[in-house]
Amino acid sequence: MGDLRNCRRCGKLFVYTGIPLCRQCIDEDEEIFERVKEYIESHPKCTTMEVAEALDIPMEKILQFLREGKLELSKENTNMLLGCERCGRPIPTGRYCSECASFIEKEFMKGLKRPGLPQRREKERMYTAHRRKKD
Ligand SMILES: [Zn+2]
Ligand SMILES: [Zn+2]
Repeated sequence: MGDLRNCRRCGKLFVYTGIPLCRQCIDEDEEIFERVKEYIESHPKCTTMEVAEALDIPMEKILQFLREGKLELSKENTNMLLGCERCGRPIPTGRYCSECASFIEKEFMKGLKRPGLPQRREKERMYTAHRRKKD
């Protein structure tokens, strides 16, 4: 038996294979991705907005490919650079520049080491709620 989940985009039930999207949505993405890739290869100086308009797809879609690191820009695609979500520095792919990425990772590790008192309370509360429901 496969692990059934709801597609993160269309909500349809599908067999989970490591990607939170159903086959149909993956295919759709794949098709759009190929078109975007082709377009920026033949128009290296284009902007994200131009690609979206030329291919009639939402700009968010292109940004998503870039953030996921799926779409990689060549050195010529300087008009399509993303901004780091923390400091705003232009980056070719992903969500953060390398400096911010290592900072965030360090902060995250610190967070993991903190004692989890509020977490335990949350668990107790859930347990009580569960009991009450049963009674
Ligand atoms: Zn779907
Ligand atoms: Zn940054």
